Amino acid sequence: MLAALPGARVVGGAVRDLLAGRAVHDVDVAVPLPPEEAARLLRERGIKVFETGLAHGTVTAVLNHQPVEVTSLRRDVMTDGRHAQVAWSTDWREDAARRDFTINALSMDASGALWDYFGGRGDLAAGHVRFVGDAATRMAEDYLRVLRFFRFHARYGRGEPDADAMAAIRAAVPGLARLSVERVWMELKRLLQAPDPLEALRLMRDSGVLPATLPEAGELQPLHRLLEAGAPAEPVLRLAALLQPGTEAEPLARRLRFSTAEATRLRHLLDERLRPAPELEGAGLRRWLAEAPAGDVPTELAWMAEAADGMDRQALRHRIGETPRPVFPLQGRDALAAGVPPGPAMGQALARTRAWWLEGGCEANAEACRKAMMTFIQ
Ligand code: ATP
Ligand code: MG
Repeated sequence: MLAALPGARVVGGAVRDLLAGRAVHDVDVAVPLPPEEAARLLRERGIKVFETGLAHGTVTAVLNHQPVEVTSLRRDVMTDGRHAQVAWSTDWREDAARRDFTINALSMDASGALWDYFGGRGDLAAGHVRFVGDAATRMAEDYLRVLRFFRFHARYGRGEPDADAMAAIRAAVPGLARLSVERVWMELKRLLQAPDPLEALRLMRDSGVLPATLPEAGELQPLHRLLEAGAPAEPVLRLAALLQPGTEAEPLARRLRFSTAEATRLRHLLDERLRPAPELEGAGLRRWLAEAPAGDVPTELAWMAEAADGMDRQALRHRIGETPRPVFPLQGRDALAAGVPPGPAMGQALARTRAWWLEGGCEANAEACRKAMMTFIQ
């Protein structure tokens, strides 16, 4: 792929993760060529190209079913404060200088040579997340970089965070209000997916960033317990553990523009009535599972309960994993076959039968349920 594009380099996260010995998930490429030219050269090699963002200089090449973004080096020629006019460029240093952190400003060419204009390699080895250029200026250009700092600190940082960055971050807190909520949640979500986001969240709380972006956040102790107990790196689960007890899911989900699936999951995880006691087992467990939301939510509810009260639920989570979710064996057509007319009477008959089935620990099969239903409709 690089061979098709003279002068092309892999840039950003892929180079960083390669050097750090971490899994590389997506590869970004930059080229010192105009985008139309890059698209033409790729197509000549039989590589499929989508013109996804030609105006910003980005095309997407598909290689082994993997999309690779190919972005032309560019220069902002003229700015009226909001709209930059771009010109294609061949200046790699300038491209690196526009990136947020030194560890994200590395590039690698087709020969495998590393280009490191700002000391990113040393910073990566030292676990030092540092802005390219003056921290305050870079954050004022894009306040999302405040949140990105913590995300990358959580992943790559070791020891004390960069002192210049932290001082500038405290001063940048009022600017966070200008960020669109979508970008805030996208970035918070990526922070919450870090193996251990706790220290970064502590720094965010102490610098005022957390209250400014997530005023619903409470104590860090429940999330700490969740992490200690080995819960999966699920962002909505971790978010739920981070919120003050009693936080309402709907307004938060609306504010952060959650997807419907995220909103539903958060609502369930915050519903304290759904949470299981550590000793839940047997018929009680089956009843609870039959009533609980589907998917991974039952296990996550056990995590939430543990985060909240600190009582170990490892054995319970194991039982939840082993127990198939009980499904009430009758449907409308069974009631119909038994002579119940469609309408409210049918609903009632099924509901009473289901209550009876639950009561019995969800063990009655279809035949037993049908018999029970007959006694309810007489
Ligand atoms: P991840 O592996 O988490 O995706 P990444 O480094 O690929 O990390 P992205 O957010 O996907 O991070 O961005 C890709 C690259 O684009 C970054 O490495 C960085 O060089 C640059 N970049 C992204 N967002 C910004 C920003 N707001 N300001 C400056 N540079 C940015
Ligand atoms: Mg990326």
